[in-house]
Amino acid sequence: MIQADKLNKKFKKWVVCGLVVGSSLVLSYNSFFKAKPQKDKEDTTTTITKLPTYSMDDIQKEKEKLVGYSMTDAFRYGVINSISDYVGKAPHLSDTISFSGDLNQMITYGYYQRIDGKKQVVITHINPDTISIPNLTPKAKKMIISFAKYHNADTKKGAIKAHEFWHQNTNPDTQNSNNFILSDITKRGVFEYNTTTEEFAKLCAHDEIASRINSLLFLREQYLKEGKTNIFYGDFSFYGKAIKQGKINPLSDDHKDIEQEQYFIVKSMLEKWENKHKYNYQDYAIKKLASHKPIPKGQESEYDKALDKIYTFIWDGKLVNLNYVSENILPDVKLTDVVKVAVKEKKQQEQKTELPPQAKALRKEGRN
Ligand SMILES: [Zn+2]
Repeated sequence: MIQADKLNKKFKKWVVCGLVVGSSLVLSYNSFFKAKPQKDKEDTTTTITKLPTYSMDDIQKEKEKLVGYSMTDAFRYGVINSISDYVGKAPHLSDTISFSGDLNQMITYGYYQRIDGKKQVVITHINPDTISIPNLTPKAKKMIISFAKYHNADTKKGAIKAHEFWHQNTNPDTQNSNNFILSDITKRGVFEYNTTTEEFAKLCAHDEIASRINSLLFLREQYLKEGKTNIFYGDFSFYGKAIKQGKINPLSDDHKDIEQEQYFIVKSMLEKWENKHKYNYQDYAIKKLASHKPIPKGQESEYDKALDKIYTFIWDGKLVNLNYVSENILPDVKLTDVVKVAVKEKKQQEQKTELPPQAKALRKEGRN
């Protein structure tokens, strides 16, 4: 049997070489050789599990699929290097809205929602309509044109995309990810993390604040390229002013300046939320609360983990977690009275459905 043994060794050597080559390409699956228990030294049998092998091309394709799935995942796998890069490459749908001069018209500039079974980012294009309303003055027509031009500008659209793609980043389309090769990608959206009912309502706020911050960081990238402070329009103009006044310096490499700038961003955006925006998102938070699930028994809240995920941004070629600023130095968001009432109702509803009849009876006794 010596001859057979020699052949066997040769075969094993070949297989091992094959595995070494293969394993450097395969990033996630369980693979191993199964050696049958050896009863006799002569009776050695090696069973080989057939392994899926992926070419560099396959892996590259999977990485590229992250563009349109999650901004930070795409960054970690090196397929994009900045917010602007992602905004330029990620797919989105376009919606066109006609504007004929009514300044009270409600315009949604962008949104992220499930359409035809897939979560998609939709960006609005404004079509200036100077025809359908008769007898418009030349001044009104001019206003319509300049309004559309202002909102359709690349910078403005880019900032809106940066906002919507951030919602995508915190809540990627996990149901359609179909990514079997890459192991280190986002598997759950933040609203699937374990949270109390209150924390869940607060996450709605944080998700919005962070999306606004991502718009600002997109504009900051344009500022670093072009040096123009007037890029910070509307709600973000405070930032351009702060640069001009020397309060912050985005060009500085000094870590104190960087920390100060990051603190200034989170603090200012939180204040804007508390003073103004949160009242416009009450209906959204109340609707979203319906999908909250209580924390399973024996498990803990993952609120802090969710905040880490929400506030980890791409900043000057690396990932930075700005949650430490919001968590330790600044107070957490405060829910509006209207949302507080909705949280209370949802909590009562959850307690009713959660407790088995016996526990309900005991609770009642306890109260009496
Ligand atoms: Zn939003």
